Amino acid sequence: AGQLGVNRSTVVLAFSELRSIGLIESRSGSGTRVSLADSEETPKHTPNWSQYADDSSMVRNPPFLRKISEALQQNPELIDMASGQLSGDLAPTQEIAEIMSQNRPMSYLGYDNPQGYPPLREALVRYLNRHRGIDTTESSLLITSGSQQSLYLIIRCLLSPGDAVAIEDPSYCFSLPMFQTAGLRVFRLPLDQHGVQPEDIRQLYKKHRIKMVFLNPNYQNPTGTLLSEERRRKVLDIASELALPIIEDDPYSLTAYDGEPPAPLKALDTTGSVIYIGSFSKIAASGLRIGWMAAPRAIVERLADARQQMDFGLSVIPQQVVATFLDSPQFVPHLERLRRELQFKRDMVTAALRREFQGRAEFLEPRGGIHLWCKIGADYNENRLLEQSIRNGFVFGPGSVYGSEPGCLRLTFGRANAGDIDRGIAALREAAEKLDLF
Ligand code: PMP
Repeated sequence: AGQLGVNRSTVVLAFSELRSIGLIESRSGSGTRVSLADSEETPKHTPNWSQYADDSSMVRNPPFLRKISEALQQNPELIDMASGQLSGDLAPTQEIAEIMSQNRPMSYLGYDNPQGYPPLREALVRYLNRHRGIDTTESSLLITSGSQQSLYLIIRCLLSPGDAVAIEDPSYCFSLPMFQTAGLRVFRLPLDQHGVQPEDIRQLYKKHRIKMVFLNPNYQNPTGTLLSEERRRKVLDIASELALPIIEDDPYSLTAYDGEPPAPLKALDTTGSVIYIGSFSKIAASGLRIGWMAAPRAIVERLADARQQMDFGLSVIPQQVVATFLDSPQFVPHLERLRRELQFKRDMVTAALRREFQGRAEFLEPRGGIHLWCKIGADYNENRLLEQSIRNGFVFGPGSVYGSEPGCLRLTFGRANAGDIDRGIAALREAAEKLDLF
């Protein structure tokens, strides 16, 4: 202080002031320290969580889907023709309960094999051969958390930002944000009542060098269309000519109610062009989260390695249950009952649409699956129609969610009880009338 020409008593005074407002502390024997960290004045902050959420690089699911699921949570009595799942009475709950109560000692409850529980893969080799005409081996199968994870792994691990792909127009709504998040350039293949036009694939390849084609050829989500046999062969010819991979997403084919569905692309594929994705969700129980892919071995090994970074594999318990169910004598009778019930519901929806809409709703009559695609003529305001329908006790899937042109909607009859379908379609017609749609 003396050297700086400051009076000693000024310094003492300054220290005592700093001490009084808590900015320094003095302890005998250890001098004086700045004590900012301990000061009561130090401001405290919560991380800006919503900023983190908003900045996420994952593209959000369409807002309509959130609106629908909130409406269903608030009012479980709503007649649900929006959700893509089976009603509880269509699931093999009794059969699954029996398998689970059989008290089979499980020898192993550690981490699963990265490709999936081996006995389930063995059961799936038999299932795919018997029911879908597909010849594969355990080493070419990857079990995933629903078919959703198979799609995710293919999109994120086999493609790079900027790559071009072709998808159906309209398409499965939860696949669209995955393509966007992955930074892919997405080109559309318009559908008619027989599926995509194979030549469109060639055109997209010529123009944009597409690297993959995603198809849902059996009772497509959301249109219910079936790719014709002739077009299947043409799609495969074009794929092999261009060495172009086809991803065949096939959760619905075993729900065929008018006879057997045509053979999957994978069963007709002689050049190894197709990766086949299947699921237990639409033939039995979506909550068990069992899906699979049949793919060339190099791809299965690569994706099994990638999925270890994601979740270290699926729980072995549902895999054991499904392995037992697929080989059980109850499986085929369950499928037959499911097909009959879905056909009955399909008939109820189509009859109700004819009765209520009197020709003002155009629709394709599905021959399998759980989705019916309907054009209600006008370029309607989806938000207003959805809100009015919810007020009337009914939810449906607005067409834009599937990337479609305006004026369409998806009516899904897997979940609604048969007894509620008439009331639901009447509620939709009342909502459309209230908004003067016709
Ligand atoms: N693909 C399609 C065409 C679907 O409709 C669905 C479910 N709605 C899925 C994949 C995903 O189903 P999951 O993961 O339950 O097998």
